[in-house]
Amino acid sequence: MSAIAPAFVVLVFAVGASLGSFVNVVAHRVPQRLSLVKPASRCPSCGTPIKWHDNVPVFGWLWLRGRCRACGVAISARYPLVELALGLVAVALWMAWAHALGAAPLTTERFVAGLVVPFTLQLALASGLVALALIDLDWFLLPDVITLPLALLGLMASLAIGKQTGVDLPAASLGALVGFGVPLAVGLIYALVTGRVGLGGGDWKLLGAIGAWLGMPAALFVLFAGALHGLLAAILFRRDFARAAPPLLPGEVAEPEAIEPEGASVAETRFGRLHVPFGPFLVVAAFEWLLFGRELAHALGPFFGVRA
Ligand SMILES: [Zn+2]
Repeated sequence: MSAIAPAFVVLVFAVGASLGSFVNVVAHRVPQRLSLVKPASRCPSCGTPIKWHDNVPVFGWLWLRGRCRACGVAISARYPLVELALGLVAVALWMAWAHALGAAPLTTERFVAGLVVPFTLQLALASGLVALALIDLDWFLLPDVITLPLALLGLMASLAIGKQTGVDLPAASLGALVGFGVPLAVGLIYALVTGRVGLGGGDWKLLGAIGAWLGMPAALFVLFAGALHGLLAAILFRRDFARAAPPLLPGEVAEPEAIEPEGASVAETRFGRLHVPFGPFLVVAAFEWLLFGRELAHALGPFFGVRA
């Protein structure tokens, strides 16, 4: 049986979409310091527990037509979109690693070591990145409880799949160092010059985690491409960003002064101050590298001084 048989692809999509469902729960509960396992999913409006058959990734939302079965309140389309996205990312990763296996006969050992293991690890990375992007969008923060374990897992993954990805432990360590260090240095200089915090608190830890997984050239690419994407979005969606204020965490009291989001990169523009979370754009750029890294490294190789 081929690794890209339709049955495998459907299964891989289901795995990715289910992880997307879990990522939605993580993004909703971790910033509020709620338990990930208890209680089971319930309608945020009326509190009715969601039946398992309505909780099927992507399809549950579709056959409920985006409304709670009990109270009819609209359920955000973001939930099925996140599930769909991680399902598709899972399929893309699976196909890429299946392709990398080549034409030689498929033994169990090659199937596991060359496909299942790198696929599983990179899908864990993808899930962590999506969770962080969603949390940063909603709360303007990148929790240490996700960024730091993600960085550590990246270093450990380099031991397991470094041969296949080209990011072995030395490369992963360098990537983490550059990812942590460059934004930290830039932020320090910016703060010294302007007396204002530019990069958000968690951005450098996220970039460190990305560097640990994808290596130093990726960390540099993600920093520059993420900044470009963020700039573009700030221009295109300036009205939304200007309006956006971070929600209060439980136990937080609104200050009479305007609340300055601690984790947001605040851009001074002639439109006023925009609150733009940087994390989601770093994550978009990280996915570009994760899915098209070979092509990007080839195209940008001379720029970064590396050989693709
Ligand atoms: Zn409801």
